[in-house]
Amino acid sequence: MSRVYNFSAGPAVLPEEVLKEVAEEMMDYQGSGMSVMEMSHRSADFQKIIDEAEQDLRDLMKIPDNYKVLFLQGGASQQFAAIPMNLMKNKVADYIVTGQWAKKAYQEAQKYGKANKIASSEDKTFSYIPDCSDLPISPDADYVYICENNTIYGTKFKELPNTKGKTLVADVSSCFLSEPVDVSKYGIIYGGVQKNIGPAGMVISIIREDLITDDVLEGTPTMLKFKTQADAGSLYNTPNCYCIYVCGKVFKWLKKMGGLEEMQRRNIEKAKILYDFLDQSKLFKGTVVPEDRSLMNVPFVTGDKDMDAKFVKEAKEAGLVNLKGHRTVGGMRASIYNAMPKEGVEALVAFMKKFEEENA
Ligand code: PMP
Repeated sequence: MSRVYNFSAGPAVLPEEVLKEVAEEMMDYQGSGMSVMEMSHRSADFQKIIDEAEQDLRDLMKIPDNYKVLFLQGGASQQFAAIPMNLMKNKVADYIVTGQWAKKAYQEAQKYGKANKIASSEDKTFSYIPDCSDLPISPDADYVYICENNTIYGTKFKELPNTKGKTLVADVSSCFLSEPVDVSKYGIIYGGVQKNIGPAGMVISIIREDLITDDVLEGTPTMLKFKTQADAGSLYNTPNCYCIYVCGKVFKWLKKMGGLEEMQRRNIEKAKILYDFLDQSKLFKGTVVPEDRSLMNVPFVTGDKDMDAKFVKEAKEAGLVNLKGHRTVGGMRASIYNAMPKEGVEALVAFMKKFEEENA
């Protein structure tokens, strides 16, 4: 068996320990005589898996009791519609557009009401986070929306926006569980799990209870109504059972590693290795202003398309894969999520140094 260092933005690297554990349990999950893939979602075994997954997530994020944790299908993108459908009582919402995913959410919300773009960083290819200390928040806004970590552009909100008392909704797909968070500052905090947590096919939405009501937009599908899922404990229909199981394993791994404080320490350490190198390199250059740099997604360029392509190709041959930047921006991007070991980042930097010497 030979494993590569996988810098994919998602689906992405998972902890080897977890992969081994699920492989061991593949044929016979803890004496049940079957794989979790074959198990009824109404069985006692599965109920225990989902209950433990929820409790472990609550412990890790210190989720207050007045928040529901929903394990939902449809990915993060389906929440782009579900959020306005459930929250737009006044049919007004304010969006801060800091990248493609925030933009998609903003465009989707326009279908359901008046979505206002109250700030954007599109003028400089989303390479920074705008000042959000005193924005023109709409007096009747049902919520203010952000994408907290911008996977494609490698920016992160280091401070949450001043929403002037309005409910904050955040997509944390690419920074989920990468550092401690204060859940009480959000109305909804949600993310697709295929980056920092588990396999693709699920979104976890953590929603303050007062936002879960029957008062949703007319025509909201039963499946997209938060109340349907909350009342049924995420088991209204057949959920993505296997994904919930693997996510649960990752939660236990995170607890064992020391929780989110320890993850943050490791993530800062890992990102510093790469950013420090970029800051002194004569060939490679980071594309994000230093103060808004993400710890999870690190985009960089050489300034020459052919050189970028050569780098990506040779890195792949050296076992450093999926370093090509997003198709809309080009260059390179290294995603260094929780499960990327420090050794992987060190190997990348060593390779970049060598490449720089060879191509000086
Ligand atoms: N939000 C962010 C920040 C993302 O990075 C992505 C996926 N790359 C999405 C939303 C969309 O996620 P999904 O494919 O699960 O719909």
